[in-house]
Amino acid sequence: MKIVNYFSPNFNNRKRPVNSIKIIVIHYTGMQSERESLARLCSYKSKVSCHFIISKSGKVYRLVEDNKIAWHAGKSCWGKYKNLNKNSIGIELINKGHRFGYTSFKKKQLSSLIKICKKLINKYNIKKRNVVGHSDIAPLRKIDPGEKFPWKELAKKKIGIWHQFKPNFLKKFRKIKIKKKQEKIKFAKNLKNIGYCFSINDKHLFAKTIKAFQRHYRKELINGLLDKECSVIAENLSKKP
Ligand SMILES: [Zn+2]
Repeated sequence: MKIVNYFSPNFNNRKRPVNSIKIIVIHYTGMQSERESLARLCSYKSKVSCHFIISKSGKVYRLVEDNKIAWHAGKSCWGKYKNLNKNSIGIELINKGHRFGYTSFKKKQLSSLIKICKKLINKYNIKKRNVVGHSDIAPLRKIDPGEKFPWKELAKKKIGIWHQFKPNFLKKFRKIKIKKKQEKIKFAKNLKNIGYCFSINDKHLFAKTIKAFQRHYRKELINGLLDKECSVIAENLSKKP
């Protein structure tokens, strides 16, 4: 795979140790065009960047070297890691996003993404559960890469995690409310095991975290409400490596 080197000035000058790289964060650019996205991610003014950006046709640009901290995650948390720029590789996919016309990700774009992820996972020994979306690590602020991102297909290639259930089995549990406090607490525990950071007492954050979880693992209904389908999925995922 050919990678075109670009330069973004938006990174920390100091090198980071190889063993600090633990997470891959996937984004969409959410802008009108590829040119505009590249310009923004390479502009001194914007103060944002990423390590890789992938065009719709699958072309890959490198903006920041892996051993430098790129500015893509912002205030964020996953498992024991906080403010993930220092612990992650950021990959942007060109897509207009929810604001300008969200579209499905293209085959060629995804096949380049899969190649890069595989390389990074092997090189830095990244755990499957640590391949995440921006919305997973910053549920209050972000919804990218969004519900059209094919997490299930990536998991088949050993990138990220997915549950083992068939859609018809799960559908029975959709919208069945969870009322018992114990069951809510169990669900929260499972979400935390997956990596989500929140407190069950912060109702706003909890609802947003459920939404992020749904956008990733149960895209058929994204309402921020806990139901049995979510609970069954979370229980299964919490046991994955
Ligand atoms: Zn993002």
